[in-house]
Amino acid sequence: MRFRFLARLALAALLLPVFAASAREQGQPVLLISIDGLHPSYVFEADKLGLRIPTLRGIVRQGASADRVINVSPTLTYPNHTTMVTGVTPVEHGVKSNAVFDPEGYEQGAWNWYGSQIRVPTLWDAAKASGLTTASVLWPVSVAHPAIDYNLPEYWRTKKRASDSHLLYAVSTPRGLLEKVEGVDRLFDVTANPEEWSFDEKLTNVALAMIGEGKPDLLTIHLTGLDSAEHKHGPLPMNDVAKETLERTDAMIGRIADAFRALHPDAVVAIVSDHGFHRVDATINLNVAFVQAGLIELTGAGAVKSWKAFSWSGGGSASVMLNDPGDTATRDQVEAILAALTRDPANGIATVLSGEEAERNGALEGAAFLVDAKGGFSMGNALAGDLVRRQARTTGAHGYRNTHPEMNSSLFVVGPGVEAGRHLGTVDIRQIAPTLAAVLGVSLPTATWPPLELEEQVAPAAPVDVATPRRHSARGHPTPGTRTSRSPHAGAGR
Ligand SMILES: [Zn+2]
Repeated sequence: MRFRFLARLALAALLLPVFAASAREQGQPVLLISIDGLHPSYVFEADKLGLRIPTLRGIVRQGASADRVINVSPTLTYPNHTTMVTGVTPVEHGVKSNAVFDPEGYEQGAWNWYGSQIRVPTLWDAAKASGLTTASVLWPVSVAHPAIDYNLPEYWRTKKRASDSHLLYAVSTPRGLLEKVEGVDRLFDVTANPEEWSFDEKLTNVALAMIGEGKPDLLTIHLTGLDSAEHKHGPLPMNDVAKETLERTDAMIGRIADAFRALHPDAVVAIVSDHGFHRVDATINLNVAFVQAGLIELTGAGAVKSWKAFSWSGGGSASVMLNDPGDTATRDQVEAILAALTRDPANGIATVLSGEEAERNGALEGAAFLVDAKGGFSMGNALAGDLVRRQARTTGAHGYRNTHPEMNSSLFVVGPGVEAGRHLGTVDIRQIAPTLAAVLGVSLPTATWPPLELEEQVAPAAPVDVATPRRHSARGHPTPGTRTSRSPHAGAGR
């Protein structure tokens, strides 16, 4: 392992000057901003929603827009952010959930934070291999990712205390950058982040510092205030906090994009999101049924003592795991319980899938079943109390199967070479990584979906002026004929 790494490093050092020159000549720098929880309708219906988001609307006017992006199931933050930088499904990249499956609580609430958990090359790897400089702010699953030069990864333990800032200092690179950014010393101290957008304001300052100091060719940043506001109070339009947070986020996007364009006038800016939201008025706690059926045994204090079957919530859907995957008696018992619960519409269960079909639709690796909730419901992790718990007030959730239109995510791209007002229609989220790799002029062969056509298409019969090189070109389109042959699922996009 170590030898292979050193060998790769030596090879990269040999090839670096050649690639560095060629990559920057051919490609364009990329700024990738993810607004967690941004449904495309928030941008397209901004007037109706009373939203003032001039930056996003300007990007739609001047650039290319997807009507909707079909993301991957479960429609959770970590699987989808990893797909956006790899171009492959969670089954392939290995990040199938946010939180680590852990019925007994040994992991103390850990998430899949680490870059080493991604099983395939990323955009950062592709850029780095071409000699480009990479930077990233709060991107999920990026802790200690070896291909990110300037990295403030998403990572926490308490999420409520200033002590988490020390963790971030420890895992951020290069050493010393964060210390120079005013206002980030208490990043996770809730008393230092009074508003939903306060944390994002600090991240914006970190991004500006990275742009100034690192001059990255690829910068990825993940802004989380909108998601947080929607979890607490539900999606738009009935959420004034989310509205104000998105308006503030819009201004931050403007600041980051302006700084990146000042550094790289030929930059392409891509705004993406990972999922939308359902409103939620009740939770479904399958483990309550499993405790009652004797499939989960609790300690006197109400913690898990032992389990044969366990439901692991991913927001709008849940994976049902068997302690012994070969335990067919328990599998049959669980199947009967789930079938009975699904028959009563009041329980809020939309679909139950099993085996391989469950895994293909977002269940954890090795799961026996995937249970998808209806809008208005989310999957809870409670072990006692009512199976279905009505909430005192409306909240919001995501993590359902990607067949719910409310879960659709966003893509807006702007920059030299991108046709103004271009409609990209419905986009598969796996197309984002190969499109951005093409714009950067780098190679990401594991991302096999066709890149999007961002430029105005020239008719095949049109004369080509070979004497005029195209100085600026968003190189997002493959040659005709290769599109369908490169796609492993031609026609499967919705
Ligand atoms: Zn998210």
